[in-house]
Amino acid sequence: MDNSLNGRKALITGGASGIGAACARALAARGAKVVVADVDASGAAALADELGGTAWTVDLLDVDALATLSLDCDILVNNAGIQKVAPIEEFEPAEFRRILALMLEAPFLLIRAALPHMYANGFGRIINISSVHGLRASAYKSAYVSAKHGLEGLSKVTALEGGQRGVTSNCINPGYVRTPLVEKQIADQARLHGIPEAEVLAKVMLTESAVKRLVEVEEVASLAAWMASDDAGMVTGASYTMDGGWSAR
Ligand code: NAD
Repeated sequence: MDNSLNGRKALITGGASGIGAACARALAARGAKVVVADVDASGAAALADELGGTAWTVDLLDVDALATLSLDCDILVNNAGIQKVAPIEEFEPAEFRRILALMLEAPFLLIRAALPHMYANGFGRIINISSVHGLRASAYKSAYVSAKHGLEGLSKVTALEGGQRGVTSNCINPGYVRTPLVEKQIADQARLHGIPEAEVLAKVMLTESAVKRLVEVEEVASLAAWMASDDAGMVTGASYTMDGGWSAR
């Protein structure tokens, strides 16, 4: 058994920031050649340079372009995501569709584009960065929770179809992780609950955590790197929470 990723080609969406950037670093550190895919062209280029990889500037909301794509990669990390916090009656329908497109339709299209290559090689690793909100709901996050629940289903179907062809598919379900996305959420939650931003962590985000701290991006990335390895060949159709005990209650 081997947990090095030497010679593997890995594509990470949303790879320019936060969890995606940490995944790109962790996979590259274990020997993978990484493609940093992001709408943020300069961020993707800078990280790709640092890691000796390639940048792919792509707007994953352009789902029509993704439908004709063919992807030559062994490891696909579906990570790009955005968040919007608002009550359903105030949630813009266009915003709902945008979030579903980025966080559910784009992963489907990328998996669809990568599977033929993975099947031909008899090896593939699909790693879907879901969330605790893929398993449990939270008020005011209708689009996000819907997209992540959908991603859980897509991940399991991929596992069933790929199981005898060397392809695994799994979700990682982090609790709140220290990234720019969470910084934005802190501001949104403060407005929504009418409390100062400084109180959001203790009063909203960490109330149900056993560990009482945010998850660090490197912690998520090291789980992703293990899921990508040969060692994890029997791990498929699974959802791994990393939430400091948040969902244990
Ligand atoms: P982040 O904002 O730091 O990074 C998201 C990346 O996605 C950015 O580089 C951004 O440019 C890219 N992106 C956004 N829209 C894009 C588009 N249309 N096309 C291509 N790229 C696009 O966010 P993060 O916190 O690292 O989140 C990454 C993933 O982790 C998301 O799917 C998120 O739902 C999930 N997640 C985050 C947390 C958390 O607390 N931060 C918790 C659970 C799950």
